Amino acid sequence: MHTLQIPQKFMDTLPLITREMVNGELPTKEGTLFKLVDSQGKYVATAYYGLQNKGVGWVLSEENEAIDEDFFTRKFRAAFAERSEFYDSFDTTAFRVFNGEGDGIGGLTIEFFDGYYVINFYSEGIYAFRHFIYEAIENVADVRAIYEKKRFDTNGQYIEQDDFVRGEPGDFPIIIKENGMNFAVDLNDGAMTGIFLDQRNVRRAIRDNYAEGKEVLNTFSYTGAFSVAAALGGAVKTTSVDVAKRSLPKTIEQFSVNGIDYEAQDIKVMDVFSYFNYAKRHNLLFDLVILDPPSFARTKKVTFSSAKDYPKLLAEAIAITAKNGVIVASTNNASFDMKKFKQMIAKAFDGKKYRILEEHQLPEDFSTLPEFNYLKVVFLQKLK
Ligand code: SAH
Repeated sequence: MHTLQIPQKFMDTLPLITREMVNGELPTKEGTLFKLVDSQGKYVATAYYGLQNKGVGWVLSEENEAIDEDFFTRKFRAAFAERSEFYDSFDTTAFRVFNGEGDGIGGLTIEFFDGYYVINFYSEGIYAFRHFIYEAIENVADVRAIYEKKRFDTNGQYIEQDDFVRGEPGDFPIIIKENGMNFAVDLNDGAMTGIFLDQRNVRRAIRDNYAEGKEVLNTFSYTGAFSVAAALGGAVKTTSVDVAKRSLPKTIEQFSVNGIDYEAQDIKVMDVFSYFNYAKRHNLLFDLVILDPPSFARTKKVTFSSAKDYPKLLAEAIAITAKNGVIVASTNNASFDMKKFKQMIAKAFDGKKYRILEEHQLPEDFSTLPEFNYLKVVFLQKLK
């Protein structure tokens, strides 16, 4: 097996293998296994070569064991067992059962949607192990069908393809439950399924503690999942804003599967920045504003990068939030941490008074190492 000596100063970076750590001495083909040894030549770990924006591979084992179907079976058995409370739940039927490096295999995540399993492969390298992975899932779970998402084709662009792998194909959309709410999901319709499971606790908090009697604005609303939570929590009205045309039928669908009259809600297909201008011109004020932009977005009018533009975006939201109103500021940008995010929040308030009501990062089923906890959600109250 290909062997690489890893300098002591890079030991802390594991399980991620970075480009500078391996100094160009990589195997030639993604999916190749290699051994890491220390400066004395002693075995440290077994890793695979796979190109992601984060790095060039991941440690799979520190046990010098074979990486075969049994290996994946053991990993999945342990991970799925840790989610037994989710499997046993009647009001939540969709959750993450395997979360990459947090469960011991970087570059690979698996989600469960009421009997269907969706695998996300983040590199060609981990995709090379797919046959072991399909078998291993079936070894430890009752599977209706397996679907897969290849997230390594091009820079963020998802190529239209059939994601069905094996089993009994689903009749989509299927309705999954989350804390008693219904969500329509389609597991074979591009990169996204209709719901981001990492926001489960945030949706519940909105429904249970922040929505009653409120005028709610949900920006970057996608299929309107936060709007559904707010409407079910007793919001007077929700306004969902997303630039993608598909967001309109998808949001209507999410309201409808929950028995909410979508005609009593506002669904706007437009650029969030144009909506902010519209709201200011019409002196609209909201009691609850949800702000969950993608890390990067480009529309005809604006290029947005949350690492750079979050304070500006949040300032726009603050301007149309009522006094004592709440803003749910969220980001999934992995390039900065909670501390930096709070600095951005302070910058957006620009000396105006506010307080932090609650904070969320990844939920229990997204088991993770601290440095990979990309989700940051802060509930803020505007005090003046
Ligand atoms: N908050 C959503 C997920 C957002 S996904 C949820 O929890 O379900 C990001 C969404 O932002 C996408 O649907 C995309 O169409 C939308 N988007 C990107 N740039 C935008 C812009 N400038 N204005 C409005 N929507 C935008």
